[in-house]
Amino acid sequence: MMQRRQFLAAGLSAGAASSLAFLAAGAAWAQNAPNLGTPTLPSPGFRRMKVGDAEVIALNDGIARRPLGEEFVRNAPLAEVRSMLASQGLPTDYIDIPFNAFLVVNGGRRVLMDSGFADNGGATTGRLLANLAAAGFKPEDIDTVLITHYHGDHIQGLRRKDGSLVYPNAKVMVPEPEHAFWMDDATMNARPEAQRGGFMVARRVFAQMPADKLVRFAPGAEVAPGIRSVAAHGHTPGHTLFELQSAGQSFVYVGDLTNVPALFARNPDWAVTFDMDAEAARKTRREVFQRIVSSNAMVGGYHFPFPAFGRLAAQGNGFAFQPA
Ligand SMILES: [Zn+2]
Repeated sequence: MMQRRQFLAAGLSAGAASSLAFLAAGAAWAQNAPNLGTPTLPSPGFRRMKVGDAEVIALNDGIARRPLGEEFVRNAPLAEVRSMLASQGLPTDYIDIPFNAFLVVNGGRRVLMDSGFADNGGATTGRLLANLAAAGFKPEDIDTVLITHYHGDHIQGLRRKDGSLVYPNAKVMVPEPEHAFWMDDATMNARPEAQRGGFMVARRVFAQMPADKLVRFAPGAEVAPGIRSVAAHGHTPGHTLFELQSAGQSFVYVGDLTNVPALFARNPDWAVTFDMDAEAARKTRREVFQRIVSSNAMVGGYHFPFPAFGRLAAQGNGFAFQPA
């Protein structure tokens, strides 16, 4: 037990570093893992919902299937994790991690929240643009992209493998503390080579982005009409949420406040291997979830099961996600 606590206290641990390599590489390893099958992607991979006068469209980018190992939940025995999954009728030898962005159409603006992989990920990712087209939009229609944090599954969709920008007319709005952390050379160089993958991905996406396209904001700022940013640090140093308000209704996009809710909403004290500061992430998760339940807001999450938006309800020691 002591060893686990130290592991949690260590911040970006070796486990988290190899997980970042996973995020940087997309889901390429999934093709090398035998006998786990292929995840079933949602079809259609978009879903509309009204929030006041605004429209929110969930856009699936794909799903990665990952063998469930001891490392996935850093502070719980695998047997407990398996029994939590089994209690919900879910498979216990692997985890399907969905990737979902959200498009907010409000007052003539088209605001995309996070971006998927584009063509940089594994075979069962990169569907966002096709789903955007199916919902009736072209990449040129997007005027703003909001980024929650700089993990590869959230930012690589901004730039294709050939270097071209996916959303040519969009301003890309990024949390200032997140940008500062990942783009700082001293921070990167202080880490062993094996832990630098995520920093390199951030550079590939952002280093050459024209100054008039890249807008840094302070968490707490209004980032688009009716959309406020909310600091939710822990998963990464600058991880930030977005809250849409329209005509008395609200929708909170929580990014990676939790990974799959079947584990980390049901037990918010569990730390996914990707949480860089597990203790800060745990506190933030409980606070934000409690606030969402109290206000009865709609919630959306990047790694929630499609359509990835719905309601949260208090359940046991944590919260249950009820898809809309
Ligand atoms: Zn993520």
